[in-house]
Amino acid sequence: MIERVRAWIDAAERVVALTGAGISTESGIPDFRGPQGVWTRNPEAEKLATLQHYMADPEVRKLAWRSRLDSPAWRAKPNDGHLALATLERRGKLDTLITQNVDGLHQMAGSSAERVIEIHGTMREANCMACGDRTPMERVLDRVRAGEEDPPCRSCGGILKSATISFGQSLVQADLARAERAARRCDLLLAVGSTLSVFPIAGVVPVAKEAGARVVIVNAAPTQMDDLADAVLRGPIGELLPRLVTAPA
Ligand code: NAD
Repeated sequence: MIERVRAWIDAAERVVALTGAGISTESGIPDFRGPQGVWTRNPEAEKLATLQHYMADPEVRKLAWRSRLDSPAWRAKPNDGHLALATLERRGKLDTLITQNVDGLHQMAGSSAERVIEIHGTMREANCMACGDRTPMERVLDRVRAGEEDPPCRSCGGILKSATISFGQSLVQADLARAERAARRCDLLLAVGSTLSVFPIAGVVPVAKEAGARVVIVNAAPTQMDDLADAVLRGPIGELLPRLVTAPA
């Protein structure tokens, strides 16, 4: 099956990749719903990512800031899966990389920022929920380290949150529209490291399929969309992806 998918990728001209938390676990960042996932081990942690709780409860915000300080993502480096997608771009095949991840590792691996759609935002910036002011996350974390447990916005005193999309928060409509457009015109959609259960973005998979693209899923566990895929490859992403994207000799 790997050889067949490799041949599809060699023949493809416009690949769209959709990545999820599973592509970053080999960099030391746990996913949410995998067997070792943050929510699988501690369902309460989901509260920190829910807008309503975050806005209403200072205790939730204090916990959220502490968990941001401790995030393994600050030390993480891109792995072979991220590097493989950067290779696919260098080969001129990758049209768009839609990522559900907020860790910025695709860009660190060499994927061009203009091809990456961070559909769930980024943890590398903080956003004021009142005035919309954006600040590098590192600066706000310095304030937390200095003793502010729930640092307010320096411009307006509003609540600061990482610039990620929480549950209960809308996606950026322009990003979603761009992702759907890319899915509609691609000839191969590569879904990597996602349970494909978070909507609306998982919806780009059936959009691509209906528009005539091949759909390839690379994931260790079954996903919601395995039935509509042309190929499902199960195994570690860091091993499988490099084998799929290397150019023929
Ligand atoms: P998920 O947690 O729902 O699913 C991850 C999937 O990847 C699981 O099916 C798991 O079995 C698989 N997986 C994990 N490691 C793998 C590996 N090395 N090789 C192959 N498969 C592997 O992820 P999701 O669908 O992306 O949804 C989680 C949401 O949480 C996302 O929307 C994202 O915004 C956010 N999130 C982001 C990060 C990050 O930025 N790194 C981390 C955790 C969660």
